[in-house]
Amino acid sequence: MPLKIALIGNPNSGKTTLFNILTGSNQTVGNWPGVTVEKKEGRLVDDRSVFICDLPGVYSLSPYTSEEVIVKQYLENECPDIILNIVDACSLERSLYLTTQILDFRIPTVIVLNMMDILEKQGKKIDTEILSDLLGCSVVKISAANKTGLQKLKNTIRLTINNSAVNLKFDTTTEKALNEIYKYTAANSANLARWYSIKLFERDFSAANKLGIKADALKKIDSIINTAEKAFQNSSENIIATQRYKMVEFIYNKCVVSNKNRQNTLTDKIDNIVTNKYLAFPIFICVLFLIYSLALGSFSQNASEFITNGLFGQGWFLFNIGAHEYERDLNSYTENTKIIEYFSKNDNGSLKFANIYIYDQNGKITKKIAATRQDYENALKSTLPDKSRYGIWIPGLKSSVQNLLSKTNCSDEINDLITYGIISGAGAVVGFLPQIFILFLCLSVLESCGYITRIAFITDRLFSRFGLTGKSFIPIIVGTGCGVPGVMASRTIESGRNKLITIATTTFMPCSAKLPLISLICSTFFKHRMLAAVSIYIISILSIILTALIFKNFKYLSASTSPFIMEMPSYHLPKLSAVLRDVRQKVISFLTRAGTVIVLASILIWLLSNYGISNNVLVKCEIDNSILAQIGKHIAPVFKPLGWGDWRFTVSAISGIIAKENTVSTLSILFKGHELSAVIQEILNANSAFSFMVFNVLCVPCIAAVATIYREINSFRYGTLIVCYQCCFAYLIAFAVYKLLFLTLPVMLIIIYYASKTKKAKHAP
Ligand code: GDP
Ligand code: MG
Repeated sequence: MPLKIALIGNPNSGKTTLFNILTGSNQTVGNWPGVTVEKKEGRLVDDRSVFICDLPGVYSLSPYTSEEVIVKQYLENECPDIILNIVDACSLERSLYLTTQILDFRIPTVIVLNMMDILEKQGKKIDTEILSDLLGCSVVKISAANKTGLQKLKNTIRLTINNSAVNLKFDTTTEKALNEIYKYTAANSANLARWYSIKLFERDFSAANKLGIKADALKKIDSIINTAEKAFQNSSENIIATQRYKMVEFIYNKCVVSNKNRQNTLTDKIDNIVTNKYLAFPIFICVLFLIYSLALGSFSQNASEFITNGLFGQGWFLFNIGAHEYERDLNSYTENTKIIEYFSKNDNGSLKFANIYIYDQNGKITKKIAATRQDYENALKSTLPDKSRYGIWIPGLKSSVQNLLSKTNCSDEINDLITYGIISGAGAVVGFLPQIFILFLCLSVLESCGYITRIAFITDRLFSRFGLTGKSFIPIIVGTGCGVPGVMASRTIESGRNKLITIATTTFMPCSAKLPLISLICSTFFKHRMLAAVSIYIISILSIILTALIFKNFKYLSASTSPFIMEMPSYHLPKLSAVLRDVRQKVISFLTRAGTVIVLASILIWLLSNYGISNNVLVKCEIDNSILAQIGKHIAPVFKPLGWGDWRFTVSAISGIIAKENTVSTLSILFKGHELSAVIQEILNANSAFSFMVFNVLCVPCIAAVATIYREINSFRYGTLIVCYQCCFAYLIAFAVYKLLFLTLPVMLIIIYYASKTKKAKHAP
């Protein structure tokens, strides 16, 4: 029989880190409770006959959250041979509650005191011998991050296999009641009889069903419980919980020696500033600002341009040598053609001098050329500059494929589909890789060093005023990566209303797929593009708060307030390998999407935008008469009040529902052959562009996220309510943005201020 080891502990106690060391397998290392929702299995590196299972982090085994249910069921049904109870040594007191429950299973258990490195820095000591005596099981000190104590842990595991002695006892009255109940459970659940006795004592009737206890036996058990409840003047569940807390306090005081004169640790000092009542938010906004300055800075702009126009476009000069000169000569060649054009049109042989104006699409003069007859004659001799004379020209994907296809006699249509449909569409999205890479990198570093947890903490302070808990912020933070796991992370929230609001608002947060659009609009239309990018985040957060205030009126949703437990891990330097692994995974998933969903959607958009229906037959036609244009033009008027009534933007917004990256790739297909940022600048202004962006950020997320919303809310009615709400809300805010631009922010703040005030007044007696 292979040996089965279960890793159980609080969130962020280091289970996944230890699991990775023991099994050598790749996993993300996260900082939020709720990241490890599924159970993960692997085999021990030195001994492949040993199975290890990484269970989700929990604070107790009372089955209220889905994590707790997973762990409880695992222990009841899978019978692991050994439990490794991973305990964050720095928060021993909080961790021990779970330990007291685990020990009730009477499965051989090793207490693994992790994070010893931090504990030492804090100047605290834990007496493991006393702890081991009080609990009746082995205790090992390790530091998973520094890989210390692991050999001792492996030795201890071997010695523990057959040792299930436990010293934990409740007081005599409770023990007497438990022993009486034990008679009924022992027959049906050999090893777990103690655990089930306690469950029955707590009136957990699912245990009774599971054990198949008969009605008359249940009656007897009930009278046993009643006697105990009378003796304690308390409910049986509370009797057990109170005594567990007492045990924990007793054990903690016995075995922890703390150095009273210790100095404030660096973490305390940083936290004093970073979570300070007044400074926390300004600092948070500065951090966001800094991240976006990096992500949208000139480095990533240049890299981005290289990818779209070079790699995926016509081509580029090696090391950029000759690019400048070529550009200059190309410009003068274009001017020359204008001169030739003008002279050949207007010249009767005597024209000596001409002022030639160059116009843009809106008829605005962009340049004036004063040309003489001599200039005209010179122009006649000018030739299109040959790239190969300036430097080493490397053709890009688009021009190479175009050449290749024309050589193979492939039809123009296929050529067009591949170059302007697929390559342009995918290129437009992949072009944002530099921005996204930098953003992922920054977020991953912040997560790894512990700052993201602080953000959740400070937002909890803000959120709790509007009836949301900080727990809602975890899904929202996860949602900045992708809405799907974001919505799923709302499982940790028990309360009906909080859960509904969280699910409805998680996707308001710009996910990574929305970044290309944000980056495009902010850098095309705003001189201070970072400010614009940060303000979209602020609009998102304000929208969440506003929604919470609106949904407060749903009386029939229960509103139990669950206490928010979130630990503050000490700050540590980011682990380079973990950060890189995390960024690599995100980048790969971004690229796979660009390579699959986006390519397919691009093909579809290309087809619909190149074919139209005439006399009931499908014919190739100009884009303005295409099927897509027909559909788009019908819907476009709806968005006219938002400032972007052009059908191409409507179509782009709709295609975003398949995948949000599509908004950009669709635009690039529809404005075929033009530089996207230049051409949208001719159609939109700052207000309407910002309105377009806000609408796409707040409106329904992609299909995958919508499906997740329906699944998590588990009600067709509420799911539909959420989707409709998101559309209407996005429309309203986009309208406000079109009219007010950045003034929308203070207006939203004022509305929130008054709405929360009137709510309070209503609740006052
Ligand atoms: P899980 O939620 O229990 O799976 O916890 P993780 O394994 O994801 O770890 C949470 C955080 O604690 C990560 O940032 C780890 O790098 C960090 N960590 C884990 N073990 C140690 C340790 O022994 N010392 C220190 N300083 N950090 C640790
Ligand atoms: Mg984990």
